[in-house]
This record gives sequence, C-alpha cells and structure tokens, in this order.
Amino acid sequence: MAELDYYEILQIERGCSQEEIKKAYRKMALKYHPDRNPDDKDAEEKFKLVNEAYQVLSDENKRSVYDRYGKSGLEGQGFHGFEGQRYEDIMDDLSAIFESVFGGGFAGSRGRKRNGVKYNLDLSAQMQISFKEAIFGTKKELRYRYKKPCEACAGTGAKDRSVKPCEYCNGQGQVYMRQGFMTYAQTCPQCHGTGETIGEKCPECLGQGYEEVETTITVEVPEGVDDNNRLRIPNAGNIAPNGYRGDLYITFYVEEDEHFIRHGDDIYLEVPVFFTQAVLGDTIQIPTLRGKKELKLRPGAKDKEQFVFRNEGVRNVHSGRIGNLIAQIRLVYPKSLNEKQKELLRELQESFGIESKPHESIFESAFEKIKGWFKK
Ligand SMILES: [Zn+2]
Ligand SMILES: [Zn+2]
Repeated sequence: MAELDYYEILQIERGCSQEEIKKAYRKMALKYHPDRNPDDKDAEEKFKLVNEAYQVLSDENKRSVYDRYGKSGLEGQGFHGFEGQRYEDIMDDLSAIFESVFGGGFAGSRGRKRNGVKYNLDLSAQMQISFKEAIFGTKKELRYRYKKPCEACAGTGAKDRSVKPCEYCNGQGQVYMRQGFMTYAQTCPQCHGTGETIGEKCPECLGQGYEEVETTITVEVPEGVDDNNRLRIPNAGNIAPNGYRGDLYITFYVEEDEHFIRHGDDIYLEVPVFFTQAVLGDTIQIPTLRGKKELKLRPGAKDKEQFVFRNEGVRNVHSGRIGNLIAQIRLVYPKSLNEKQKELLRELQESFGIESKPHESIFESAFEKIKGWFKK
C-alpha cells in the first residue's frame, strides 16, 4: 500500500506553523469523525490517518525526524502509528488525542473498553539491558505482576457477586453530553465506568475485584534494539473478568559502553593517535563490534579525522540493514619531555628550516598591510 504523506493527509504545506497544523487537524478530524460517519470504514480509516499525522506533526521532535527520514525514521525510534494495534486501543488513543484538542472524548471508545474492567488491560514494564545485549539481541527473564479477576467475586468486587446496575448512568458506565452534532462521552463519576454498584464488598479482594499475580517470562530481545524502544508482548497484560487479556509493553533502557558510542545504527569509536604516528603514518588495530579491523593512517593524519568502516555498525531492528563504524582520530601529544627528547625535537624542527615557521611567511605581508592602515 502506498503511504500517504502526513502533510498531504492534513492538506497543509511543509514548514507550516503549529497553529496551522492544529487548525487543519480540527477540520479533518471533524470531517471524518466516527460519530458523524457511523459504520463508514473509509471514514474510519481516514480518521485514523488524520490522527496519526497530527500525532507526529504536532510534536516538534517527531516532526523533524519525519521531515528528514520519513516514516521509517520514526519507526527507528519506536513509533508505529496505529499499525498492528487492536481496534479498542486505537479508538482509545484517538479519543485521547481528540480530547487534547477539543476538550472532550467521543462516544463508544473509552466506555467500551472500560466497561466491567476496573483497570487498564495493557501493562508496561521496563528492562535494562547491556550495550552488547541491545546490539546482538538476547533472551532475558522479566519478572512482573499482572492483575486477574478475583475468583471469589468473579471480578465484581461484590460479596456473593451481588451487583446492581449503577443508577447514575443506568448501567452504561458513561454519561453523554450533546453539543451540536458532537456527542461527548464521559466516564460515569459514580461507578467509574463499570456501570455497576456493589452492596457489600468481597472479603477476598476487599472490593477491588482483582488480585495481583507475579510471573516471570522469557523476553526475546531483538537484535539492534535501541534505548527507549518498546516491545509489545501480546496477551501478557492484565486479564479482564470476561477472560480477555491485554498486552505487555516493554521499554528498553540500554547501558552505555566505555569505548563505543551508538548513534542510531552507527557506532563511533575514538582512536587515540600519538603525534609521531600521525606525522609518520601507521597501521593500527582497532576494535569493532564483531572483532578487529586495521586502520591505515597515512602520514599527516589530522585530529578528528574520520574513517568509515561500512557494515560494521548495528543491524537495524526493523529493516535489517547494518550501519557503519566510524573511527575518529584524537591526536595525543606527550605530557612532558625530557632533555634528550627536547634536544631531538629542536634538531628536527631546525632540519625543516623555513617550513618549520609557517606563520612568518604568511604574516609578513599582513604586517606590511596593517602598517599602511594607520598611516595618514
Ligand atoms: Zn473479590
Ligand atoms: Zn455509573
């Protein structure tokens, strides 16, 4: 499927202001709003795209990545729009975005997901991994807690499961307000969206309706994962009373390495080079992610000079392409000199004659010129 440009979706110019983006979003979001286009799959698809575009372009960081690298650049940072997400989650997200701009949700989103569930079904967890584990991938155990419905009360939180429909919202879980053609839905303040009230609390879970279970899973950390990347483990989140299970989202925190510095899929390595090596040229061994490489310094190598080793970087977690290793020279001078060394260096300097004093020939004409500036 051909991918639509976010600017085209919102029908705005590249480089337009945040104000214009917001304005365009309001216009397009209202046009394709699900409440205005019931059971219209095409409008729903467009509404999703409009929201995805707004999510990216309204965030200056995401926008600049998108401007430079397109959607694949955002994917490299773990942003996938609404791809592969469940319908309920998408509608939930959309409702949140919509709410932030219009100050109200829309019918049929949050309530549907929350109905009967007192907690979010999706869970998030963090995992710290080493530099090497991130680059090559690994299997790692993760211990976490998830919620499941209390067995004694079947998740109702009520003793003997005696629940009645909430009177405030007539058991709907949400209350509606109409404004023009828009319907704003709000979670019922009385039952917090469950649509039920309980008489006496369940003694097992103290009315919470759930219990927490600790578990350990083995996580396959994919090769090339980067700091702040998020991995979704389907069906490992909290369990709803109806048996439906949410997902677990793991955010990775990658430790730094003392030698290698990672920028996306590229790896930077600082190579200290002694001044005599730089002058004479040398061949030195440098470490790479996967072994060793020879770095050939030609005579006269410069400070900060970079050498690129293709395909010696990190394998991209999405595309599989391998980045580069960039070795950067750092010139090192002797910390101190003994008498003998000073003598040798002086001798060396003199052997160069006029070449050893480049400033003299260059500045001579400048001195003459400046003299002229102050003559009347
Ligand atoms: Zn209970
Ligand atoms: Zn209620």
